[in-house]
Amino acid sequence: MRAVLLGAPGSGKGTHGKRLSEECQVPLISTGDILRQAIAEETRLGLAAKADVQAGRLVADETVLGLIETRVGRPDAAKGFLLDGFPRTVAQADGLAAIMEAGGGHRLDHVLNLVVAADIVVNRLRDRWLCGQCGAIYNLSSKPPKATGTCDVCGSELAQRADDEPATVRARLEVYERETAPLVSYYATRGILRNVDAAGPADQVYAAIRRVVGPSS
Ligand code: AMP
Repeated sequence: MRAVLLGAPGSGKGTHGKRLSEECQVPLISTGDILRQAIAEETRLGLAAKADVQAGRLVADETVLGLIETRVGRPDAAKGFLLDGFPRTVAQADGLAAIMEAGGGHRLDHVLNLVVAADIVVNRLRDRWLCGQCGAIYNLSSKPPKATGTCDVCGSELAQRADDEPATVRARLEVYERETAPLVSYYATRGILRNVDAAGPADQVYAAIRRVVGPSS
């Protein structure tokens, strides 16, 4: 399966992507995660991307396309992958199609568009806490950890993302509407877009995703 998770920040791409990638046994590739790791490690990529990521602006298309080309070319992605947070612009979508075509004549099977209203995502992101160790995602109102500030899965400390504070979230939503929302019609025109109502409880949303992807992909 080769698929893209599309949707505003906070629409649940990471949460559902993690589960789907485990069940379908394909890697979940998040450009945001790759960039945050590069920033933490102060690599050249990280230093170049830091200011944009902190302000909620998009990193340059060429930079992100370069890191995606490298990542999807790795052996664990040979049978498929799930992309989270990429593509974010029409230029990136065109670049992805070219990379996949050159890498074996592949095409995307699904583009899952997680649809949720802006006020819901601002609240979700304000309450979001993440485990830096295993990547587990919590929400203080809908999925709180058993012990405050500690990951249920691995016991590590939880943290919030700096760009999840409401002012930066609003900037990210504006960027989403301007740069990424056009991808909805881009993929609809190509007949592979599937809208999923992502406002409800996580299990309900995930069941809708599985109905699109099929039980055994
Ligand atoms: P995310 O974790 O997907 O919300 O991404 C966090 C931040 O990383 C974004 O606000 C951007 O600054 C940057 N970023 C992630 N993916 C991309 C992308 N495909 N294109 C440009 N910038 C990106």
